[in-house]
Amino acid sequence: MKYRIAVVKGDGIGPEVIDEATKVLDAVGERFGHTFEYTYVLAGGAAIDETGRCLPDETVDIAKASDAVLLGAVGGPKWDDLPGDERPERALLGLRKELGLFANLRPAMVFDELADASPLKPEIIDGGLDIVVVRELTGGIYFGEKGFKETEMGPAAYDVEQYSTEEIRRIAKVAFDMAMKRGKRVTSIDKANVLESSRLWRKTVAEVAADYPEVALDNMYVDNGAMQLVRNPKHFDVIVTSNIFGDILSDEASQITGSIGMLPSASLADGNFGMYEPVHGSAPDIAGTGKANPLATILSAGMMLRYTFGLKEEADAVDNAVRSFLKAGFRTFDIATGDAVPLTTAETGDKVASFI
Ligand code: NAD
Repeated sequence: MKYRIAVVKGDGIGPEVIDEATKVLDAVGERFGHTFEYTYVLAGGAAIDETGRCLPDETVDIAKASDAVLLGAVGGPKWDDLPGDERPERALLGLRKELGLFANLRPAMVFDELADASPLKPEIIDGGLDIVVVRELTGGIYFGEKGFKETEMGPAAYDVEQYSTEEIRRIAKVAFDMAMKRGKRVTSIDKANVLESSRLWRKTVAEVAADYPEVALDNMYVDNGAMQLVRNPKHFDVIVTSNIFGDILSDEASQITGSIGMLPSASLADGNFGMYEPVHGSAPDIAGTGKANPLATILSAGMMLRYTFGLKEEADAVDNAVRSFLKAGFRTFDIATGDAVPLTTAETGDKVASFI
């Protein structure tokens, strides 16, 4: 099969980690008989330098005409003085909006070999940890009505949390579909004891659950959810939650894993289209030194194979190659401990590709 991928290398370590992810994809293509066709497009600081805009129309057009988007990272000190809506990071919001990316998937996985890097006690994460946070990305309080008004207590500001049944239904479906491919458990996190929008959330998620009799659903209030993530994280398989709760909980969940250089993410639209990127930024402090860990981007490419292209065996091959890399004792600079001699970004990509 042939797959068309729009690739945004971006800024800082973006181009370095992307080169390793495409190296690994090419190894997958060779082993399984697929062709991955890359179209390199500009976004972020590199796009500002070249075109004066952080998200050129051409990038959006090519992204829309592709099967998926793979993105490194954007931003850096060079563009820090630009006004908010001209900054490189604005390109990410623009891409989400233009591509209709309403579901954000953030796996939090603890590899046994890196258990030491987790701030949690060994007995809590013993045997590994594998959670996916499914966050609603285009609704809720970040996009609701906002403004200022006079109140009895003087001038006030407000932001409205609002969700339609349809918005809740489509994100819940993403979570249940995902659970069917994993541990068949969904935890829906809300604040239904206080918020009307959460009560609609809970009711709608329960309705969607009726279509998935094999998946066990439990509901949790967000305060308890935040607590259970560090107290008993193995309780969770797939978490589904609103934009603001997901923003906070996905960062909390990712910290359990210990290293930002290991964390992939996906943002999905209707019909399997998705944008895949590491959770980390452009790390200008280590750009050009060969110290960037490309594993988060490689794992993001693996998610692309799984969730957009539906290539399970190929996706497993990527995850297993990363696991073999770690099992064999190889480390990157950010996760090297003791006597381990860290590999550079390119050496890491070569090794992982060789394990495919
Ligand atoms: P960052 O994630 O770039 O870096 C935080 C720290 O983690 C740094 O010390 C960095 O060296 C380290 N780090 C990050 N990725 C690493 C990797 N793959 N391997 C090894 N070490 C890694 O966050 P920041 O420093 O707050 O932001 C830097 C720039 O990136 C800013 O301009 C910011 O706006 C932008 N940013 C972009 C995205 C994105 O493109 N999705 C996300 C976050 C931040």
